[in-house]
Amino acid sequence: MKPDLELRDYRRALTHSGDVSVGAFARRRRRTRILIATGGAALLLLAGVLYSFLRPPARTIPATFEVHVLCAAAECGHVAQLRVPVGRQFPIACPACGQHAARPLWRCHECSHEFLPRDESAPACPRCRSTKVGSAAASP
Ligand SMILES: [Zn+2]
Ligand SMILES: [Zn+2]
Repeated sequence: MKPDLELRDYRRALTHSGDVSVGAFARRRRRTRILIATGGAALLLLAGVLYSFLRPPARTIPATFEVHVLCAAAECGHVAQLRVPVGRQFPIACPACGQHAARPLWRCHECSHEFLPRDESAPACPRCRSTKVGSAAASP
């Protein structure tokens, strides 16, 4: 009876190992499919992230900009940093006295002095006389 038993064992072992390998193969295939799916999703996500980084910043141009203003009203003279819409006409309302006398300050590139030019067509720094002056507003 000994050989018979061995044969049965052998057959059982064969079926069993076959089942195992089929199961393992299916698992491997399923894992591969999941990997491809997750990889694809990750690639899509990466592409989206890259796109949002590389996209020309058309929407990020602010509609407002920071500007230093000086109230030209003699009794006020308030200086303020304001955020105003691009294209806003000056003078604007002074946040301190409410008069429409707040004008954007100019800044001297030589001595960093901020001032209101008397003649905006030929502005010069009243402190150092430099003509290297520009708007004190942050570029929009
Ligand atoms: Zn004022
Ligand atoms: Zn200056």
